[in-house]
Amino acid sequence: MIRLEEVSKIYPGRNGQVKALDRIQLNVKEKEFVVVRGPSGSGKSTLLLTLGGMLRPTQGAVWIGEQDVYKFSGKERAEFRAQNVGFVFQMFHLIPYLTVWENVAAAAGKSVTASIRKDSLSLLEGLGLSHRVSHKPSELSAGEKQRTAIARALLNKPKIILADEPTGNLDPDNAHEVLQHLSSFHQNGGTLLMVTHGKDADPYADRIVYLRDGAVVESN
Ligand code: ADP
Repeated sequence: MIRLEEVSKIYPGRNGQVKALDRIQLNVKEKEFVVVRGPSGSGKSTLLLTLGGMLRPTQGAVWIGEQDVYKFSGKERAEFRAQNVGFVFQMFHLIPYLTVWENVAAAAGKSVTASIRKDSLSLLEGLGLSHRVSHKPSELSAGEKQRTAIARALLNKPKIILADEPTGNLDPDNAHEVLQHLSSFHQNGGTLLMVTHGKDADPYADRIVYLRDGAVVESN
């Protein structure tokens, strides 16, 4: 489903280049839940952005299904991403001036129809947020923000969700709830890749891949 072939990413820098990813080989099968774990600075965010089609690797190829993602033009890649991949980030990345349901609906990437609104509201209901749909993100708790972000990630019925430290700003109860929702996406046949430095998601994962200094050091 997701395949990284010898992917390296080098950031240019004033004080010399940083090799953030070093010839990564990684296969994530369809319907698999893989946790990529590594300490801060090990390349987790770079890996997630690269395999999500948002950051072109310096070398190597990223395949999603039958598609070599970086063979697309930027516009095609954005469309492919919107249709196939949902993202959940540690800092939520909600749009502050839109309400909760409008944030979810915005993932459709087009003007909001009655059916997009209905889908957004129904996802929010499933995530226990019916009472918050007309609130602004600033009026939500961290857990509610992340559940809104999950609803947004689910709107286009993606086959894949990529999550970057999604419980990093949550207390244990909310972290558990968010992991339950991500896990039910996986239980329903979704492919999930989560990067994290913590162990919260281990009980839910099929496999854990360890990253250190931009390289995969162990996988089980
Ligand atoms: P993690 O998510 O595991 O903390 P990152 O992928 O953010 O790791 O970073 C990996 C390495 O790449 C770090 O040394 C970081 O300082 C460096 N890095 C990340 N983004 C950039 C950037 N835009 N420019 C230069 N160096 C970067």
